[in-house]
Amino acid sequence: MKILEKMRLDGKTAFVTGGARGIGKSVAIAFAQAGANVIIADFDFKEAEKTATEISSSEKATVIAVKTDVTDQVSVNNLMDIIKNRFNQLDIAFCNAGICMNIPAEDMTLAQWARVINVNLTGVFLTAQAAGKIMIEQGRGGSIINTASMSAHIVNVPQPQCAYNASKAGVIQLTKSLAIEWAKHNIRVNSLSPGYIGTDLTLNSKSLQPLIQEWNAMAPMHRLGSPEELQSICVYLAGDTSSFTSGADFIIDGAFSCF
Ligand code: NAD
Repeated sequence: MKILEKMRLDGKTAFVTGGARGIGKSVAIAFAQAGANVIIADFDFKEAEKTATEISSSEKATVIAVKTDVTDQVSVNNLMDIIKNRFNQLDIAFCNAGICMNIPAEDMTLAQWARVINVNLTGVFLTAQAAGKIMIEQGRGGSIINTASMSAHIVNVPQPQCAYNASKAGVIQLTKSLAIEWAKHNIRVNSLSPGYIGTDLTLNSKSLQPLIQEWNAMAPMHRLGSPEELQSICVYLAGDTSSFTSGADFIIDGAFSCF
C-alpha cells in the first residue's frame, strides 16, 4: 500500500472535544475526509450539531454531535456510552477542548484559576482516561492526541496567562505519563502545541483581539496560523503510519517559540 493510502483512517472512529468550532472543527473535518466516523463532543451542542451536519453533507463518514462537558465525569462517561452503543469501537481521541483567561496573577481568583485548570488539564485527563479504558478493553491499541499550546513552552508577553500556561505545560507531562503507562497496550499518546491560530479563542476575545497586530509583528512568519494548518499532523498522529510515535509534543507555531 502506498504511503498516502496507509495514512487514511477508513473504518476508524474518533471523538473530538471542542469540535464545534476552531481547531477541533478543522481536525474533525480532516478525520472525516480521511474516512473516520467522528463524534463532535462539545459543551456548545447547537454549534456542535451544526458542525456535524455540515461535515456529514460533504463526507461519506458518519458524524454526530454529543453534548459534553469535559470537566464533568458523568458527561464524559455518557459520551463514551454513546460511542460504544452507536459505533461499538473507539480508535482515536482528540482531547482538545480548552479555554483561555487573560488575568494578571495578582488579580486571579481561585475560581478563575480552577476553571482554567479544570477545562484545560482535568478535562484532558478525564477524556483521555475514558478513551484509554475503552482502548485497553478493545485490546487493539489506539491514538490519543491532547491539545497543549506553544504557551506550554514559552511565556509570551504581553498577555498575562499564568493559569493557561500552567495548564498547558501540565498537558505535556500528562501526555508523556500516559504514553509510558499505555505503551504496553499499543495506545499512543501525543500532544499538539499550536502557536497563535485564528479561531474564536483569539479573533473574538476582547482581551486578545487587540494584541493580534503585536503578535504578527513578533512572529517570524508575521501572521497567525490557520486551523487547517493543524489538520495533517493530526491525521498523521491518528493513523497507523505514526505507529512508533508516542509521548511526543508537536510544536506547530511557524517558528514563534524559536526565539
Ligand atoms: P475555540 O474557542 O475556537 O473552540 C473551543 C471549543 O471548546 C468551543 O467549541 C467550546 O464550546 C469548547 N469547550 C469549551 N469548554 C468546554 C468544555 N468544558 N467541555 C466541552 N467543550 C468545551 O478554541 P480553539 O482556538 O479552537 O482552541 C482549541 C484548543 O487549542 C484549546 O485547547 C486551546 O487552548 C488550544 N490552543 C489554541 C490556540 C489558538 O491560538 N487558537 C493556540 C494554542 C492552543
